[in-house]
Amino acid sequence: MSLALESAAIESAVLALDLRTDAFIDGRFSPARSGKRFATENPATGKVIAQVAACDLADVDRAVQSARKAFEGGAWSRMSPLNRKKVLLKFADLLEANAGELALLDCLEGGKPIGDCVNTDVPETIHCIRWHAETLDKIYDRVAPTGPENLAMILREPVGVVGAVIPWNFPTQMAAWKLGPALGAGNSVVLKPAEQTSMSALRMAELAVEAGLPPGALNVVPGMGETAGQAIGRHMDVDMAAFTGSTEVGRLFLRYSAESNLKRVILECGGKSPQVVLADPPELDTIAAHAVNAAFWNMGENCSCGSRLIVHESVKDALVEKIAALAHTWTVGNPLDPATRVGSMIEKSHMEKVLSYIAAGKSEGAKVVMGGNRALSESGGYFVDVTIFDEVANGMKIAREEIFGPVLSVIPVKSEEEAVKLANESNYGLAASLYTRDLNAAHRVARALRAGTVSVNCFSEGDMTTPFGGYKESGFAGRDKSIFAHEQYTELKTIWMQIG
Ligand code: NAD
Repeated sequence: MSLALESAAIESAVLALDLRTDAFIDGRFSPARSGKRFATENPATGKVIAQVAACDLADVDRAVQSARKAFEGGAWSRMSPLNRKKVLLKFADLLEANAGELALLDCLEGGKPIGDCVNTDVPETIHCIRWHAETLDKIYDRVAPTGPENLAMILREPVGVVGAVIPWNFPTQMAAWKLGPALGAGNSVVLKPAEQTSMSALRMAELAVEAGLPPGALNVVPGMGETAGQAIGRHMDVDMAAFTGSTEVGRLFLRYSAESNLKRVILECGGKSPQVVLADPPELDTIAAHAVNAAFWNMGENCSCGSRLIVHESVKDALVEKIAALAHTWTVGNPLDPATRVGSMIEKSHMEKVLSYIAAGKSEGAKVVMGGNRALSESGGYFVDVTIFDEVANGMKIAREEIFGPVLSVIPVKSEEEAVKLANESNYGLAASLYTRDLNAAHRVARALRAGTVSVNCFSEGDMTTPFGGYKESGFAGRDKSIFAHEQYTELKTIWMQIG
């Protein structure tokens, strides 16, 4: 189903939704063995949408057994790359055919603007699966430069059973960033979506099997982090854990691995990304458009959110004025309304956390330029105003910690050196933006910034051809997207032959 971005069409599509709420294990839906369920809520209204299977250790164990059986059986892991490609391309076609439904599920459970879900999240999801599918029959293994008495083949093999644990901020897209490369490389996957946003992942798994993925090659176990997530992290028969979420929980996955089977762990975690504006910037209107997008897109619930604007004092006031003027056009509203640019926070407790950061900013002496309050409380939903603080010091709580809400901190600086120093003075290092007309400064500062992605004169996470992930506490041992993501879901094997 495609979805016309028009209110009446959206309303009737919501009514027609057929929700998947059971776990997806061994190619079919089943309730949690305990029979337990948890409520999933629409954060824009505070109303319960459905009751989802609450998987725990017993269900994760079932899913891992099914994944292992599929892996050992070889129907997927030993399928030719060409045929794996065909299945994944069919999967992408089915995602496209059901794009409207997936967009609605992410909008309803995630509080995300429907326009973003339709125009960005779901198309990027489809593109990711297609991109990884297309690479499969174009990758070659290697032969080592030994002498003529030997032949040493260096092969890449799938790791085995991959446990993927993902966040709620881009539900279909985060699933695709794991599934594209992990399935593409021939692994079996047990996927745990965030408990706030389970339903699009369940539907994706159903479509994957419809596309020809053998049962067991992809299982989805909805549930809580401490039960289902931890069970994956500690499972003795999971070969690799691929995690995206907070740095705090990322650390736990390292512990789970150390205390279980030393499974390989890759972490994509939080950020506090700087947007650096030097004294000789390009057109301020263009910077303002990028800066607003970087700070407020997806309600700031974005790992690469450009939440710190580190700007030369000579251009600060003019730029902040333009940013504020533009930010006022970012309507906070019902995520199902196509005119909405800023939806709700994911849940009540998260809204309260964001508001507590705003209160900290006020009490630490930052100047409120706009916003600073809860919005639309009459809706029953969890909305926060688009908020800008000026005169922020990099040591303030709002400049140091990941807020994960629509809050921009403006930090004035006097020089390029100070800008780089403050940009790097963070435990995180996921992304950074840099604005300058000076080509030398662009190269110099881009290299000096300690971040996985540095975008120059724009805000960008790159595209599917570029790796995405972080320095420092923003990540560990891996990257999403691109051929580098594919490789991390493989083991390197050497086959050494003596030629007699
Ligand atoms: P979170 O860490 O709370 O949860 C992420 C996942 O981990 C969820 O599925 C959750 O159920 C699970 N989990 C929670 N506690 C667990 C536990 N004790 N054991 C095992 N699993 C557990 O993060 P979130 O609030 O869902 O997402 C927001 C975070 O994700 C932010 O920090 C954001 O920066 C980060 N993020 C990073 C990227 C990236 O690519 N680097 C992308 C998106 C989001």
